[in-house]
Amino acid sequence: MSSSSAIERLPLEERFESLLGAIPDDGTSRELVRRAFEDASRLHAGQVRKSGESYVAHPLAVATLLQELQMDPATIAAGLLHDALEDTLLSTEELRRDYPEPVPSLVEGVTKIGRIHFDTSRDHQIENLRKIILAMARDIRVLIIKLCDRLHNMRTLGHLPEDRREAISRESVDIYAPLANRLGMVLIKSELEDLAMMWLHPVEYRRLADAIELKRRERDEFVQESIDTLRDYLKTVGYDRIEVSGRSKHFWSIHEKMIRTGLGFDEIFDLSALRIICDTKTECYGILGAIHGLWHAKPGRFKDYIGTPKANGYQSLHTAVVGCRGVVTEIQIRTREMHDVAEYGIAAHWMYKDGRTSAGSDKQLEWLRQLSEWIQDPGDSSSMLDTLKRDVFADVVLCFTPQGDVIELPAGATPIDFAFAIHTKVGERCVGARVNRRIVNLRTKLQHGDTVEII
Ligand code: MN
Repeated sequence: MSSSSAIERLPLEERFESLLGAIPDDGTSRELVRRAFEDASRLHAGQVRKSGESYVAHPLAVATLLQELQMDPATIAAGLLHDALEDTLLSTEELRRDYPEPVPSLVEGVTKIGRIHFDTSRDHQIENLRKIILAMARDIRVLIIKLCDRLHNMRTLGHLPEDRREAISRESVDIYAPLANRLGMVLIKSELEDLAMMWLHPVEYRRLADAIELKRRERDEFVQESIDTLRDYLKTVGYDRIEVSGRSKHFWSIHEKMIRTGLGFDEIFDLSALRIICDTKTECYGILGAIHGLWHAKPGRFKDYIGTPKANGYQSLHTAVVGCRGVVTEIQIRTREMHDVAEYGIAAHWMYKDGRTSAGSDKQLEWLRQLSEWIQDPGDSSSMLDTLKRDVFADVVLCFTPQGDVIELPAGATPIDFAFAIHTKVGERCVGARVNRRIVNLRTKLQHGDTVEII
């Protein structure tokens, strides 16, 4: 994703017009987004960000990130309104009256995640993850909006006091980056981690940045030599419509790898890594064979993630060879579509839903298709998200207090169990309960995501 710093210097109106220009001119989409922007501007009027900019610059930036991910107009509109319930006088009722679904539900979902109280201790990470997954479970787009919100907040973190910067950075690394990874949104994951590292480990970050800068020229030359060699060779064996590029490693991942492996910066940074993007799956395997004819393969380093995709939908062929000048070179081979999925993950689904590709028989899009089916039909029990729920929430049910705290209960728990889980005294005095604002029988079985209020 572009860091859009050039865009951010433009006046708000121009930024908005450039966003609008990228939205389909179909008679409804632009109107929806324009209305959301006008409402957000009016509702946030007078509010100022720590940077001194008017507040609406933030939702506008979030909406722009969503547009870059090619999300649908309703999600972009929800991005514009994502802070309006929490931070302005807008009520849920007005939102529901003024906007068609799914806009109100998306905004409410993002607001709900924002209200979850995170425990910063590391022991609670997994717990926090589950809470968020639960909160987003009703529509995956809620989480995509939340990730863009977090990314923009991280990009503009410099304006906050130090303790806030640290807390937000920590939360980004512990909770949002792993979730982005789970959804295959690797570009967002990497940027969140790199920005967090800048604030959490400033000395190491600076050292790494300097070391990378120092070696950049030498490295760039070598990578270019590898690219040229490989491209020319593949051309001679008939692959002339492919893209070969070097891959950059992210700061955080270099830092982690140095700690994990005990290797020095040079040993990790000197690893050469190339990527080949071609048209078809058949070509991927053909190119792999060709490369192994040019350079010796390192035994045990071949991985076929096309035949067996990763859980988050990632597909590619991986191999490592003894490349130019005898340097071990990691190579990834994938199609354009696999590449988009590799970088944008679940969000790539929206890029491809307009029928530019035939998802019909491609096993690689099965995961995305299941998810999209689930989005259209929340009742579909065979969906991927239900699998996720089964895996992550086996035998437990997670419910909210009206304040947004999460209470974990055994599966099959009732409002009485919920009351006792809060406090024995609450349990003993419990005479009734509202679930999702409706009075229910005290023996009602609670479901994931229910908001329970004890009377
Ligand atoms: Mn926000």
